[in-house]
Amino acid sequence: MTTEHTPQALRLPVLQGYTAEFYAWCQQRELRFQCCQQCGTWRHPPRLMCTRCHSLEWEWAPTKGTGRVYCWTTVYQALDPTFAEDVPYAAVVVELDEGPRLTTWVTGVAPDELRVGMPVEVWFDKVSDDVTLPKFKPQAAP
Ligand SMILES: [Zn+2]
Repeated sequence: MTTEHTPQALRLPVLQGYTAEFYAWCQQRELRFQCCQQCGTWRHPPRLMCTRCHSLEWEWAPTKGTGRVYCWTTVYQALDPTFAEDVPYAAVVVELDEGPRLTTWVTGVAPDELRVGMPVEVWFDKVSDDVTLPKFKPQAAP
């Protein structure tokens, strides 16, 4: 894990607990989320217990990696200087076809071109030796 406080390091997740497990799947180019084995409810961010049925039984279930833009906010002024070169950018919530939602990037689309319901698919951006981030891009036309 990167421990330097470089601008890039400040953007990376802290790899511990369930978060480390989530990103370990991403390193294998698989987008998996916790899925309750009692009631089938997906959840993210990772946590111990199902909020629907309170079960402690769960698995890292695979997704197809496809979904739709659920919502986003566009950042025009970087309050954190590590993001100064990126503005304007959109912090996007993608809803996977299976149901879980993930705050992420949608690349290849300007913030003002995003649309609710836009079909997107995951791609994996290896940003350090230890961290591969799941990002999304518009789905190719069928
Ligand atoms: Zn449950």
